[in-house]
Amino acid sequence: MITEFTEVKSILTRTSGFLNDVCSHSLQPYRGCPLGASLCGVGCYVQHNVYVTQGRAWGSFLEVRTNAVEAYRAAYERERSWAREKRGGFVIFLSSATEPFPHQEARHQITRSVLEAMCDLPPDGLIVQTHSHRVTDAIDSLKRLATKSALRVHVSIETDRERLPGLPPPASSLTRRFEAAAALKAAGLSTIITVSPLLPIEDPQQFFGRIALVADAVVLDHFIGGDGTPLGSRTLKTRLPRAMSAIDPRSVELSYRDEMAAIAERYLPGRVGVGPDGFAGHWLRTTNRTQ
Ligand code: SF4
Repeated sequence: MITEFTEVKSILTRTSGFLNDVCSHSLQPYRGCPLGASLCGVGCYVQHNVYVTQGRAWGSFLEVRTNAVEAYRAAYERERSWAREKRGGFVIFLSSATEPFPHQEARHQITRSVLEAMCDLPPDGLIVQTHSHRVTDAIDSLKRLATKSALRVHVSIETDRERLPGLPPPASSLTRRFEAAAALKAAGLSTIITVSPLLPIEDPQQFFGRIALVADAVVLDHFIGGDGTPLGSRTLKTRLPRAMSAIDPRSVELSYRDEMAAIAERYLPGRVGVGPDGFAGHWLRTTNRTQ
């Protein structure tokens, strides 16, 4: 892992595409992702972005954005005004192209310092998206911020299998992510499990029952349509679909998502979201927005 320290001109990116209906901005405290060599990195769509990778192997580099707080403060008034006028609210997704809580965060504290800055200069809404149990290190900051901003924490748990044959293990074990979700919920934070991308589930009844104990809602997203392409063509370039198909051929079909969503609905009635609607906080049986 090569770690570099960089300064950015801008830390708030106005969203387009998949995130357009979810939030007004994304914020990446790092560029590159240490989780790129783990399970979630196999199908990660960011690895195809040559602007980000600049030819480097995904998971092999991390750029620490040392001036993230200063850049946030400098852009706050301008971007909030723009978002409120053009998007109906200043809602930030943290993060869409990196893990905000890699183990390096313990040393560099970029995400934590951005969250603290947001306590002074809060966005209207914040979605924290993580694959790591280390999100619990920031519970105090998140609790403070939740009093000032509509905050949701999304914890990704893509399957109930600890390992998928032929693929690397997740960076954060199932048990630790379930425990992290439970801790977030116990702290009073709006906690959503994102099953994204949906991988083959061994025991859907047990899986969604377990999620119902630790989360306020669940969002399912399939790589078809969920990787930024209508047919999942980015993911089809990776070894993920073959590994999924070897376990359960139905899992590479979009209908598998709907089948799993129907089961999830039994355990979290009115609290199941699908695709971008789900990421935006819209659930299948209600048009209410849960924040
Ligand atoms: S944590 Fe997110 S950005 Fe990093 S490899 Fe996994 S899916 Fe990609």
